[in-house]
Amino acid sequence: MSPGGVDAASGSSLVKEVVYDEKTILARVTELAREIEDVYTAEDRLLLVGVLKGAFIFLSDLARSLTIPVQIDFISVSSYGDDTVSSGTVRIEQYPRMPLGGRKVLLVEDIVDSGVTLDEVVSLLRERGAATVETCALLHKRIATPDHEPRFVGFDAPNVFLVGYGLDHAEDFRHLPYIASL
Ligand code: 5GP
Ligand code: MG
Repeated sequence: MSPGGVDAASGSSLVKEVVYDEKTILARVTELAREIEDVYTAEDRLLLVGVLKGAFIFLSDLARSLTIPVQIDFISVSSYGDDTVSSGTVRIEQYPRMPLGGRKVLLVEDIVDSGVTLDEVVSLLRERGAATVETCALLHKRIATPDHEPRFVGFDAPNVFLVGYGLDHAEDFRHLPYIASL
C-alpha cells in the first residue's frame, strides 16, 4: 500500500507516513538480541514477559533472534481504550501465568510514552518476587523519565501517534509489518 492511499489490507483509515520500515525494524531487533545476550546467559533461564497486545509482534521477532534459551509469558494491560491519548490509569487485564519467584524477567514492551505503564508493570513484577526485572522497549518517545528506565531500547521515536508492528489505533493497524504515523 502507499501511505497516502487507501489501505486495502486494513480496510480502515489511512496511515500518514512510514517511520520505520520492515527492514529497519528487523535489523534493529537483531541488534537488540545481541545486546540482551551480552547481559544474560543460558543459566539465567530468562523469562520474557510481553505486554499485550502491543508487543506481540516485537516479542515474537525478538525471541526468534535470541540464541539463548528463554521462556515466554504475557501480561495484559490497557491504558488507552480507543483513544490516542493515555488515560493515565493502567488496568491489568491478565497477570502472567508463571510463578515469577526468583526469576530473571525481561519485560518486552512496544512503546514508552508517559512511562506510567512501564512503572506500574515493573513494580508489579517485582512485588510478585522476580529476582531482577529489566525492560526492553522497541520505541521510546523520550518525553518522560520513568522511574524504571528501559535497559534496552530499539528506537528513540518521534512524539507522534504510531501504529503498525503490533501497535494499534482502536485495534486497527496491528498487522502492518512497518511502523507508521497516523
Ligand atoms: P505510557 O503508559 O508510557 O504512556 O503508554 C504506554 C502504552 O501506551 C504503550 O504500551 C502503548 O500500548 C500505548 N502507546 C503509547 N504511545 C503510543 C503510540 O504512539 N501508538 C500506539 N498505538 N500506542 C501507544
Ligand atoms: Mg503497550
